[in-house]
Amino acid sequence: MQVTRELFNDVMVPNYSPASFIPVRGQGSRVWDQQNNEYIDLAGGIAVNVLGHCHPELVKALQEQSEKLWHLSNVYTNEPALRLAKKLTDATFAEKAYFCNSGAEANEAALKLARRYALEHFGAEKDQIIAFNQGFHGRTFFTVTVGGQAAYSDGFGPKPAGVDHIDYNDLAALEALISDKTCAVMMEPLQGEGGIISPEAEFVKGVRALCDKHNALLIFDEVQSGVGRTGNLYAYMGLDVTPDILTTAKALGGGFPIGAMLTTTAIAASLKVGTHGSTYGGNPLACAVAEKAFDIVNSKEVLEGVKQKEQLFRQGLQAINAKYNVFSEVRGQGLLLGAALNADYQGRSRDFLVAANEEKLMCLVAGANVVRFAPSLVITDEEIQEGLARFERAVARVATAK
Ligand SMILES: *Cc1c(COP(=O)(O)O)cnc(C)c1O
Repeated sequence: MQVTRELFNDVMVPNYSPASFIPVRGQGSRVWDQQNNEYIDLAGGIAVNVLGHCHPELVKALQEQSEKLWHLSNVYTNEPALRLAKKLTDATFAEKAYFCNSGAEANEAALKLARRYALEHFGAEKDQIIAFNQGFHGRTFFTVTVGGQAAYSDGFGPKPAGVDHIDYNDLAALEALISDKTCAVMMEPLQGEGGIISPEAEFVKGVRALCDKHNALLIFDEVQSGVGRTGNLYAYMGLDVTPDILTTAKALGGGFPIGAMLTTTAIAASLKVGTHGSTYGGNPLACAVAEKAFDIVNSKEVLEGVKQKEQLFRQGLQAINAKYNVFSEVRGQGLLLGAALNADYQGRSRDFLVAANEEKLMCLVAGANVVRFAPSLVITDEEIQEGLARFERAVARVATAK
C-alpha cells in the first residue's frame, strides 16, 4: 500500500492538520521522513520524548518486557507497576500512585478524587473547582472544561458544573473567589500550552496558603512540566510549595503512553475499591518503559544537564534575536522554553513553525504568539547548535518575507 500525506485526508477524522511530510524513523534528536530527509527534533513529540527517539535502554526495557507479559487488567497487579509506583513515591511528596494512559486521564482521576474527598469529609456543598485562564488540562469533557480556553470546551453541549476560572498569577482574584465551598484549585506550575507562563513565587505560595485556609486541595498538573523538564524532577520542587495531588504523563513514558496521579495516603483513601479505574492503566509494558525512563532522568547528570542546555538555547535564541529582532522575550524554564514574538509578528507563530519545517527542523508553538521548544533532555550540544542554526534560517525566511 502506498502511504502518502493525502491518505490522511481520505481516512482520518479531520481534527488534526499534520505537516506535509511523514516521519518514519528517529534516533536521538534526529528524525527521518519517507524521502530520507533528516530533521532536528526540538519538539520532543510535544515534551514527551524525554530521552530522544529509540533510546537504547528504553528499547531494551520494551523488548524485554514484551517477551514476558503485556497485559492482565487490574484484576491482577504486576511487578513493573509496583516498582514504578515505589520509585515515584520515594522521589516525591506522594505516598500513593494511580496509573492511567494519558495526561487527561490523570487529571480526570485527580478531579474525581478531589470531588470525592470533599464530599466524604465536608459534604456535598463543597464542589467548586477553581482553575486558571489559558490553563490546559486535557481533552476529556471534565478536564477540558477545567482548562481555561473556552474555545476548546464550547460546542459540545452542557458542561460539567462547578468550575470557575481566574487569571494566572492573580492572587487577589483567587482570594476573592475561594471559599469553604471550594473543593480544589487546579493549576500548572508552569503554563505550557497557554504560552509558557511561569508562576510568580509569591503567587504559588499564596495559592497554597489560601487552599489550606479553606480546606481545598491543591492539584498541580505537571503533565508537561514534570519528569525533569524544568531541571527539577518535578517543577514543584523548585517552587517551595507542595501540592496535595500531582499529575504526570507526557515525558513519564519517554514516548510510550502512560500517565499517573500521585497523592498522599489520607487523600487517596477516598478512591475506594470500585470508585475509579482503567483497563490499560498500569499495564506492565508501559510501566517497564516508564521505570527505565524514570531511572535515567532522575539522576544528577541528566537534571544538571537540563540547566546547562537551557543556557545554550537562551544564548542561541538571543543571538538570533539580535540579528532579526523578532522576539520580545525568551521565557520558561529548563528545556521548556518559549520565544515570545514581538509586536511586529503578533499572531504569526505558525509561520515560524512552517518555515522551521522547511529548514528541516521540528519545533512547536504555544498559542499564536509563542514558538516553543521542548526537546529531549539528553539532546547533545551539537544537535542544539545544528537545530538553532536551522531555526535561524527559518527566522530569516519569515523576517525577510515581511
Ligand atoms: C498535554 C497536557 C495534558 C493532556 O495530556 P494528554 O496526554 O494529551 O491527555 C494535560 N495537561 C497539561 C499541562 C498538558 O500539557
